[in-house]
Amino acid sequence: MPESVSVNRRKTMHPARIPQVSPISLISLLYAMSMYAFFQQGFISGITFITVAAAVLCCVILFYCAFWFKLNTRFSDQSLMLPQIVAALLIMLTVAYLERATQIALVPFVLIAFSFGIFRLSTRSLVLLAAGCLGAYLGIILLRGHEEGYALGFRADLIQWFVLALTLPGMILVGKQIQNLRQLLKATRYQLEHYEEKSVRDELTGLYNRRQLQTELDRAKLQIDTLSIPFSICLIDIDRFKEINDNNGHLAGDTILKEFSRVARESIRDTDILGRYGGDEFMLILPDTDLKGAVMHAERLRVYAHFLDFQKILPQKHISLSIGVAQYRKGEKITDLISRADAALYQAKQLGRNRVEWAEAA
Ligand code: GH3
Ligand code: MG
Repeated sequence: MPESVSVNRRKTMHPARIPQVSPISLISLLYAMSMYAFFQQGFISGITFITVAAAVLCCVILFYCAFWFKLNTRFSDQSLMLPQIVAALLIMLTVAYLERATQIALVPFVLIAFSFGIFRLSTRSLVLLAAGCLGAYLGIILLRGHEEGYALGFRADLIQWFVLALTLPGMILVGKQIQNLRQLLKATRYQLEHYEEKSVRDELTGLYNRRQLQTELDRAKLQIDTLSIPFSICLIDIDRFKEINDNNGHLAGDTILKEFSRVARESIRDTDILGRYGGDEFMLILPDTDLKGAVMHAERLRVYAHFLDFQKILPQKHISLSIGVAQYRKGEKITDLISRADAALYQAKQLGRNRVEWAEAA
């Protein structure tokens, strides 16, 4: 629809996305850095640290390549959130199993990994992920249970597991709330766009209403006053429309208004703006068009409308249009431009209707 161009121009273009290291990969890198602190302080061996760093780096490169080669587009969740979180959790749990001292870092990093999931994953996936993570962590603690001198540590680990078991469902609940809020926000934005669109349209014809025509005229004037490109307007009025209403009923009148609007909208250029100025009067704004071009457009529209077949509702079968055309004079007020087009329209009516008249350009 040509006139929707102007409303759509508010929508912004998004530049092509450059693949980048995902946030979850960054968290894995931070985890590897924290492992370096453990290594420095002598809590874990050098070989463990190197293994962790290598595993994290492999994962980061793997997912980076997946995004770079657009392999992610083959999956329904293109952010690959679930496999990324699973990979991060697997690394952390393996390290926690190999080096008990690192368990202190496990809970915060697991929570951070989950916090990414709550924006993308379904509640079901989150619950399954939490159950899997808690099960694996409990398994690690129980496996270590038989080790000598571990009795006290075993209880401490169980408490840490218990705390994680309590916080993860809390996290999922918060995530659900955030997802609900996002849904609500999306629905509200959609409604807002719908009302915004409705507020600029005429209800009967779907064309721009008078207020939006005024906005479009102001916009055109602003552009032309700086760029010196001409624009013209046509005021279009259906001849003897009152008679049509009186003889055939208001509903028949409405049908004619709607049908004329539909056909007129299809017959104009994408850049032209057509609106209902009021009653049986319409305005066509023709950007980048001088008086001569505008008169030609108006004449074509007049002929077009004249050949519309209304034989089912009108005994005379056809309608006719009178059109007044005016070209914008640089610096003039919009009200003056409309007055000049209106005067030309009046002249067309005076000269017998079914014709195009124009106001001199200068
Ligand atoms: P002219 O050739 O001089 O334009 O004569 P006209 O009969 O068209 O005169 P006028 O412009 O005064 O009449 C417009 C009529 O349009 C009057 C009004 O009842 C009718 N009208 C205005 N809005 C609507 C509408 O939404 N639906 C219908 N069916 N008629 C409408
Ligand atoms: Mg009329």
